[in-house]
Amino acid sequence: MKKWWIWVSMFLVLSGCGFGEEQDVKITVDAKIPIDGTSPSLQLTRKQVYTGSLVLVNKERKLHKEAVPNDIIDLGVRDELTKGFELLESSILLSEKVARKFGEMVEAAAKDGVHDFRISSGYRDMSDQEQLFEEKGEDYALPAGHSEHNLGLSLDIGSTSGPIDQSAEGNWLKKNAWNYGFILRYPKDKTNITGIQYEPWHFRYVGLPHSLIMKEKDFVLEEYLAYLKEQGSIQVEAGGETYQIIYVPAYVPVSKQPKVSIPSGSKYDVSGDNIDGYIVTVLLTNIL
Ligand SMILES: [Zn+2]
Repeated sequence: MKKWWIWVSMFLVLSGCGFGEEQDVKITVDAKIPIDGTSPSLQLTRKQVYTGSLVLVNKERKLHKEAVPNDIIDLGVRDELTKGFELLESSILLSEKVARKFGEMVEAAAKDGVHDFRISSGYRDMSDQEQLFEEKGEDYALPAGHSEHNLGLSLDIGSTSGPIDQSAEGNWLKKNAWNYGFILRYPKDKTNITGIQYEPWHFRYVGLPHSLIMKEKDFVLEEYLAYLKEQGSIQVEAGGETYQIIYVPAYVPVSKQPKVSIPSGSKYDVSGDNIDGYIVTVLLTNIL
């Protein structure tokens, strides 16, 4: 008699299982940013080309020393930031902002019954990287300044229940890390672009909405930055917010850099690409 209700309940349960894993991302390529003559303009500085959450660091692009965020902390002495996961070593350094985002992600995973996370590596300073490179050689390590671990925004995530790519933790991250601003930096099918073998444990923080766009478009960071440069400006609806993402080329004379107009009162973030441009991300949710 009440069979229909059972079917409705089953549908809700089944669709609920997937909720939160896939986020809708809508990209509009020709939308203009809502500015007028009274909008403030933001003066960009050359240093910003080399800093921020989107800087590209790989075999070709070396990080500038300004790229290392000034909130690097030792998780080994910050118990309040390591709830719900383990550290492989007694001292693991990381950007505090990234550590907090990782904590949020671990908390969300625990609600899905996935809780055996471990951080096995975080920030390494240049001398640590130099030592690692000398010990492991170029097949297994990158020279100082070319590893994302020198940036403070990347971490290697393990599972205490087995190899990460065969664990519930690895599986959960593959589906959900994007929702928290993290990207799987070296996927299996992009080794020709990243120049790095598949590393199911290495995650990089790039922030929202960038991680969601990269997931939607199946881009690695190299491809995403090239896409932004090509598009110039895109409007994005993702994670319940609307953003305008603007690529601004840096000027050749180092002393003189461009200005960009943004809507009055809007929240924004500027990151360089560590090549020759700026990515200005403006939150439009309360502006439009
Ligand atoms: Zn790594």
